[in-house]
Amino acid sequence: MKKTYTAPHIERNYSGTMNKYGTKSVVRHQDSIDGIPVKKLVESYGSPLLVLSESQIRRRYQHLTEVMKMHYPRLEMAWSYKTNYLGAVCSIYHQEGAKAEVVSGMEYKMARRLGVPGKDIIFNGPGKRKEDLELAIREGARIQIDHLDELYLIEKTATELDTIPDVAIRVNMDTGVYPLWTRFGFNYENGEAFRAIQRLLSGKMMNIVGLHTHIGTFMLDANAYYLAAKALLNLAQKVQDELGVVVKYIDLGGGFASQNTLHEQYTPGELSSPTFDHYASAIGAAFNESRFVSENLPTLVLETGRALIDEAGYLISSVIGKKNLPTGERAIILDAGVNTVITAWWYKLKVLPTRPFPGAYQNTIFYGPLCMNIDMIRQAVPFPDLYTGEQVLVHPIGAYNNTQWMQFIEYRPKIVLISETGKPELIRDKEELSDIIEREYIPEHLKQI
Ligand SMILES: *Cc1c(COP(=O)(O)O)cnc(C)c1O
Repeated sequence: MKKTYTAPHIERNYSGTMNKYGTKSVVRHQDSIDGIPVKKLVESYGSPLLVLSESQIRRRYQHLTEVMKMHYPRLEMAWSYKTNYLGAVCSIYHQEGAKAEVVSGMEYKMARRLGVPGKDIIFNGPGKRKEDLELAIREGARIQIDHLDELYLIEKTATELDTIPDVAIRVNMDTGVYPLWTRFGFNYENGEAFRAIQRLLSGKMMNIVGLHTHIGTFMLDANAYYLAAKALLNLAQKVQDELGVVVKYIDLGGGFASQNTLHEQYTPGELSSPTFDHYASAIGAAFNESRFVSENLPTLVLETGRALIDEAGYLISSVIGKKNLPTGERAIILDAGVNTVITAWWYKLKVLPTRPFPGAYQNTIFYGPLCMNIDMIRQAVPFPDLYTGEQVLVHPIGAYNNTQWMQFIEYRPKIVLISETGKPELIRDKEELSDIIEREYIPEHLKQI
């Protein structure tokens, strides 16, 4: 007799009770950052507080560059400003030897303020304005072109300034990771990228020195970089063979995943994100197979952002209040929300107690202080009971938070960097009312209320 088909189903693995996968999970606590007690940081700087670790930033950077150079030694790094453009943070990467990767006129000026010369700035992005391009051309920055109108504008500006700028073109291609990022740059498969280079060369007002791609962000498939590198190297070969021009560098952009866990992922990020070794061997394989590489030894450029800094950032937040929800879950109201840590929308951030607990967990949701339903830091996790006023650590939050954070309902908090010697240094102050209203005007007829 034929058996009846039963559809597979997913059974919820309740943590906290015994089940076939083991005993209850234990919530780990963390009471210090780089040896500095959380209590002491809160006494000195208040709560909420963003904390970045200088030694973790440097170690992670050195790790990536060492691993990558084992596969391909001619490496150049450029720090992605939009990932975290605090002056102190960018300066650490520049001290380590990274150039600046900027995606707007504003970021370009941030890099110049820190003393980065134009020639060490890679200027990306789809929104470059004429005045940005003028400055970049005058100062000798490398401009990576996003679309044809930008190409024409650079040509025109270069003619006006009577300067031949160094440029690259941004290329998009199918690397098997969907949805494809086709909105940036010129397409590889349909020949658009090659035609853009032909057009660029025929104008004779630009020097094409590189090929660029940035295939996406939080890329969980290291092999996508093998395919991306192969595509750019094939294009470089074709440009050499058919147009007689040899590009000096291949820029593979950013996009490596951090150890964070996306909401839709079941396996924790520490286990599912590729390591730097995975990405480096994928890229190294494409480079070491390529004839263009063996004949021309181009520089490999990486613009890694997220994976370099996410883990080096912590939020210290305090419990404002607690309540029991009708669902049986406990709710904790924290003094920082998605206005401060916007990546809570993408990730299951880790919330850690800052002292040891005897046990007795209850499913606990962490909300922020905003009077908005969107303000949730973490969906229900089994958690011990907390006192009002005590602290939790939210981690990892080093990437894309203090650049994307919202000035919404509350002031943005202080940011402290724990230096390599273990000394906390204030690197951004808390906002106050004047910061918010400084640029407002109230029309005469509204001054009397
Ligand atoms: C955002 C961005 C990066 C950095 O990306 P990560 O995913 O943070 O590594 C690099 N290059 C370009 C062009 C970008 O827009």
